[in-house]
Amino acid sequence: MTPAPAGAYPRAAVIVVGTELVAGVRVDTNGAEVAGALAAAGYIATRREILPDEVEILAERIAALVDSHELVVVTGGLGPTHDDVTRQAAAAALGLPLGTDSVIEARLQPVLARHRIPDAAAQVLRQAHVLEGARILMPERGTAPGQLVPTAHGHLVLLPGPPHELRPMLAEALRSLGRGARAEPRVIGCVGIAESDAQLTAQKVLAPHPGIGLTVLARPALVDIVLIDEGVTSDELDLAAREIAEAIGDACYSTSGAMLAQAVIERASSRRVTLSLAESCTGGLIAAALTSVPGASSVFLGSVVTYADDMKRELLGVQEETLRDRGAVSGETAREMASGVRELTGADVALAVTGIAGPAGGSTAKPVGTVWFAVASGTDVTSERCHFSGDREIVRARATATALDLLRRALPPPETGPA
Ligand code: AMP
Ligand code: MG
Repeated sequence: MTPAPAGAYPRAAVIVVGTELVAGVRVDTNGAEVAGALAAAGYIATRREILPDEVEILAERIAALVDSHELVVVTGGLGPTHDDVTRQAAAAALGLPLGTDSVIEARLQPVLARHRIPDAAAQVLRQAHVLEGARILMPERGTAPGQLVPTAHGHLVLLPGPPHELRPMLAEALRSLGRGARAEPRVIGCVGIAESDAQLTAQKVLAPHPGIGLTVLARPALVDIVLIDEGVTSDELDLAAREIAEAIGDACYSTSGAMLAQAVIERASSRRVTLSLAESCTGGLIAAALTSVPGASSVFLGSVVTYADDMKRELLGVQEETLRDRGAVSGETAREMASGVRELTGADVALAVTGIAGPAGGSTAKPVGTVWFAVASGTDVTSERCHFSGDREIVRARATATALDLLRRALPPPETGPA
């Protein structure tokens, strides 16, 4: 990411507490959620750390991060058990005493009544311990309160680990800190373009636009260019997104964060063009992508998954000789599959895909990763061969994205440019 202009937005850090999260026994979801909420609330999250339930380590990291960040949010370790040590660690880090809050203590009385082991009472009551000067974030659910504590450079926020308890408290803390919102990141979707080409093109366009952060995220066959508000207006972000889309050209399918399948459905809908598919190696993945788009039913008629040669012959009318002489993975078979499914469904545009996803089944002439596509439209049937590297999952994902892109390109673009 390009560095943020100094002083544009205050810096925030997130600490996620849990020995099980460090060990990978449980997956941290709070970290991403909190970082997203901080960005939306006008902070730049510059750091995220996953730390064990250990007082010394937590105290050391909290002390270091409150020194360099206007806001530090800690999640987890506020419960009643022996390993919930976030309160003590925060108190040690800030050099503040812990007192008992009588309101929280009173709320905990019914909980105490449910415990049979006498020692449990002292543990449960630890949840009423608050740092001196902290504002309490009352739990809507659960028993552990959150705490909003002033620091030398801003605030420290302690939140419980369970996501449904944390959410309302984080919202309350951010509301009370009252920062102006940041613009939503803009996501420019590209297909069939190299990651570095996307990045260099975007960087060139962004040179005269200070205050826009750039991230480039690649998935099989797809590249997302993400523009982040680091001190600009929403209109400036939109303008930069449009300029980047123009510079990228036809490989850009969206500037609104829409999925590639959505771009296909939108183009087909705007032109009232119906679509159908014949899938072999993708096994329905292209249909799944198209049907994940709300409103797909107005243009997508269906997909026939023909994995075995017999099915290609019987359902799609692929010729016996084609399969014998050219093989199931060939341009001829792909073209006959596309024509066959177009005839079967009566769609305006039909696409077929047949390939070798591996790991077995490759040969010198047709190595693993060889995928043939065909598009039947009007009186035309065209085919195209691709070779994808990667394992079975990646080959299938690349084939799916490439197929969606071929469909998109086979459809006339809307007059307004990318969605
Ligand atoms: P804690 O108060 O840290 O012991 O957390 C209580 C429970 O909240 C854990 O057992 C998890 O189910 C959940 N939890 C805690 N931290 C996280 C996290 N970072 N991401 C997702 N769930 C979490
Ligand atoms: Mg824990």
